[in-house]
Amino acid sequence: MRISVIGSGYVGLVAATCFAEIGHDVLCVDNDREKIAILDQGGSLIHEDCLQELLSRHHHSRLVFSTSVEDAVRESQAIFITVGTPSASNGAADLSYVESVARTIAKCAEGYKVVVEKSTVPVYTSEWIERAMIQNGRHAGEFDVVSNPEFLREGTAVTDFLYPDRIVVGAKTKRAACVMREIYAPLIDGSYAEQSSAVPPPEGARSVPLYLQTCPQSAELIKHASNAFLALKISFINAVANICESVGADIAEVSEGIGSDSRIGPDFLRSGIGYGGSCFPKDVAAFRAVAQDFGCEFPLLDEVRKINEEQRQRFLSKVKAALWTLKGKRLAVLGLAFKGGTDDIRESPAIEIVKSLLEQGCKVTAFDPAAMDRAVEVLADSVTFANDVYTAAEGAEALLILTDWKEFANLDLQRLRKALKYPIILDGRNLYKLSDMEKAGFNYYSIGRRPLEVSHSFLRNSRVIAG
Ligand code: NAD
Repeated sequence: MRISVIGSGYVGLVAATCFAEIGHDVLCVDNDREKIAILDQGGSLIHEDCLQELLSRHHHSRLVFSTSVEDAVRESQAIFITVGTPSASNGAADLSYVESVARTIAKCAEGYKVVVEKSTVPVYTSEWIERAMIQNGRHAGEFDVVSNPEFLREGTAVTDFLYPDRIVVGAKTKRAACVMREIYAPLIDGSYAEQSSAVPPPEGARSVPLYLQTCPQSAELIKHASNAFLALKISFINAVANICESVGADIAEVSEGIGSDSRIGPDFLRSGIGYGGSCFPKDVAAFRAVAQDFGCEFPLLDEVRKINEEQRQRFLSKVKAALWTLKGKRLAVLGLAFKGGTDDIRESPAIEIVKSLLEQGCKVTAFDPAAMDRAVEVLADSVTFANDVYTAAEGAEALLILTDWKEFANLDLQRLRKALKYPIILDGRNLYKLSDMEKAGFNYYSIGRRPLEVSHSFLRNSRVIAG
């Protein structure tokens, strides 16, 4: 099928590439000329496993980039809207980009079109898109608006798209529902996975996804409620971690005990410095605003946000408690992305913590496997960027782990100890076992677990003692 995807950011670029991968002819559009020029030259703009490989496979054949929404609309049967829906000042979703695209589609559509809302939007947005289409010259029956929320996670976006748990389609007419089924057919019937060139499925992937056809309002709510629930799980376990610290319990043991209940499950029960990224903070706020708009109070969501924000402050207090004073201290920071596997720093807790440390007079040397180019844009020269973990650690008075990159979970602890001025680690992502850190001789502070403090005479590392 000929499909267009309007907005080629994290979701749009991945969706467009994966639609090409499952056999469709795709026009991927963005109004940012620079982005399209880079994509057209074979660049990928974002860091995602398998993405570059698939882009190279389909670019110039089934996948074409353009800045013209008009061309894309004329040539496609289904038009996916994947533009941003950022937070407005009151927390509600700013839908101006979605509206602007809907108007353009209305003005240049010829023949029947399915307009697919893939951006995360509040309930009833599909109705508003329909209205905008009619106000701008289209007639009912010439088009359908469908809600098809996207559940991919940055870091594993390609495999999430190709091997989803579920595909949710909120359609009002049979005609639109049929088009959507046809688009996703290779995923729904498992035929994509059987191809020899298919991206291999991740461990634990379903053989075929649940295909859930709903009304548009349910589809829209499913996305907001899913993200709010995941954020809630993170804030819940962080609140429990804080109690663990007060009573001397261990959050790793407690999480395992809670998560092994099949009704709860182990995912999203890792305590740390809280959630970030372009979705959870904005979607929790937007869902709260939606509930309020429709006369439903939902104060639980305020609490989710509050716990998340306090988590960063608690971590900063830990840094201070471990180091006594902060002014002039040289700190090594591992991780700037909002989570491992991505270069995305939007609403990253790591960036917020680094900014606070800088404000308090610390000197920071940071390393991130993928996000440093983006971090330079917000931190400029206030931070020194290192080429690897051990260079970042060289001579630092403590090491802070702020992003859960898997690369940071297997460090050479003896090499790290030699590089650091003092063997102090503050782990905001609980990447290490206490026993490993104890054996390696670190003062180790994590979340929801007892602090490890070797005696003060061991605070100086062997190099300092030798000196
Ligand atoms: P993004 O900011 O990375 O990308 C949006 C793109 O849309 C930008 O490249 C922008 O230039 C383009 N754009 C804006 N207005 C346009 C217009 N009029 N015409 C053409 N292009 C236009 O955003 P994203 O992270 O890809 O998120 C997009 C939507 O998907 C949001 O609603 C988000 O909540 C949702 N979502 C995001 C994720 C994620 O992990 N990032 C996951 C699921 C859903």
